[in-house]
Amino acid sequence: MAPADLRRRGRWRARSAGSGTSLVGVSETASTTDRDLTSAPAEPDLLPDGWEMVVGLEVHAELATRTKMFSPARNRFGGEPNTNIHPVCLGLPGTLPVVNEKAVELAIGIGLALNCTIQRCVWARKNYFYPDMPKDYQISQYDLPLNVDGYLELPSGAVIGIERAHMEEDAGKTVHAGDDGRIHGAGYSLVDYNRAGVPLIEIVGRPDIRGPEQAKEYVEELRAILVTIGASDGKMEEGSLRVDANVSVRPVGSDELRTRCEIKNVNSLRSLGRAITYEARRHVQLYQQGEAPRQETRHWDEEAGRTRPGRSKEEAEDYRYFADPDLVPIDPSPEWVAEIKAALPALPKERRDALVAKGAEARASAIAVGRNLDRLAYAAIEAGADADKVLNHVAHNLAVDGAENLNADHFAALVRMETSSALTSTQAKQVLAEMVDTGNDPESIAQARGFEAMDTGELETLVDRLIADHPDEWQRFTAGDDKDRKKMQGFFTGQIMKATRGQADGKVVNRLLMHRAGG
Ligand code: MN
Repeated sequence: MAPADLRRRGRWRARSAGSGTSLVGVSETASTTDRDLTSAPAEPDLLPDGWEMVVGLEVHAELATRTKMFSPARNRFGGEPNTNIHPVCLGLPGTLPVVNEKAVELAIGIGLALNCTIQRCVWARKNYFYPDMPKDYQISQYDLPLNVDGYLELPSGAVIGIERAHMEEDAGKTVHAGDDGRIHGAGYSLVDYNRAGVPLIEIVGRPDIRGPEQAKEYVEELRAILVTIGASDGKMEEGSLRVDANVSVRPVGSDELRTRCEIKNVNSLRSLGRAITYEARRHVQLYQQGEAPRQETRHWDEEAGRTRPGRSKEEAEDYRYFADPDLVPIDPSPEWVAEIKAALPALPKERRDALVAKGAEARASAIAVGRNLDRLAYAAIEAGADADKVLNHVAHNLAVDGAENLNADHFAALVRMETSSALTSTQAKQVLAEMVDTGNDPESIAQARGFEAMDTGELETLVDRLIADHPDEWQRFTAGDDKDRKKMQGFFTGQIMKATRGQADGKVVNRLLMHRAGG
């Protein structure tokens, strides 16, 4: 396994390693709730008729600060193990945590972007043992979190409630030295404290999500917000964005909340969709057999395409939370909150709405914002380019490196050439690709490729000559019935395409023919 893979796996396995050695009920043996199901398909089916999914996501995001949550150690991914450390994040005796103001500022910004109430919050110790958490407790927030009662509106229009978004510190990671990075079969394990004490926000969503696509949409929107406001890099592949899914099912029409399972170890959006679908189907199957799932943590096995039981889910009281005596509560002043709010950039929803107001279609606008090409599209439309054509290029022809450096005026000029039929759509696509590669303007690229030769004046001469050469056909075109007219239109267009070796724009040819016929 490549070192990068090992690191990544280690990051994700740190938690399961901890649970395997902890004293809370470990369940490695198969239970009645753990029969094999067929693997979730890549494009998940819906549940059997009459059942619906109830999903709530917990998202942990590492905050993009320069230093850690409570110490001056560097907050940076990668690097030699145990180099970004400090006595505080190692939990050495006599050390005291000092709150990172920037982390609080970013967390407040997240709360505002998620429409939360920002409140006085208290740091709490969450007590449990992990080898990669040397204090044996995690500093988190419990009954008084920083952000409460928000919501997130998705591009599709669904609104997902946000229960809370609290601050805490990350644990280090345990790397198991074995063939597959798992604790089982590993000869020994190594602990890397570089990640210990990295500032985290934990965003707890309400169980308002009803399916795998919506779950993915929620995470994508959340990630777009975090990246937009600069609060996190949102990289799932580096573990700076991690998703746990609470899944249950219920009969359609009911509003009950049945027993849920929490799925860990989901490290891509694709896995998230598959894991949720698998787990919901498992629950339905159990209910249909007169059984019930039990509350537990489960792990997603990507290769097997199924979840497996972990520990039986502990309750909050098992952690023996209490207010951390080393830290004072944070009570953000309204002035500070207002200052942070004023400094927030336009959020993804606002950016989508701006494009829609310019005449773009909603789905296409979401794609443009997702690619971070919405400002380019907006500027091109402002410069007079057709909105649909602009967004169409963004969706289909600009999913390439370097697209973000495209000059908006050049882009607008290209679309105008296309609209005025100076370029066919196929030619426009080729010119656009070269614009991204070279940064040249569309006129000179089209000229160099010989695309500009087919101007309207030249076409007019050609059409007139054809009419003169084929008087009978022209007679049928101008005076025949609909069928004749269509047939002759095809004849003339075909002749012109032949004469121009396909360079002429069919729409322009058609317009010229109609014009000559006096239509
Ligand atoms: Mn947490």
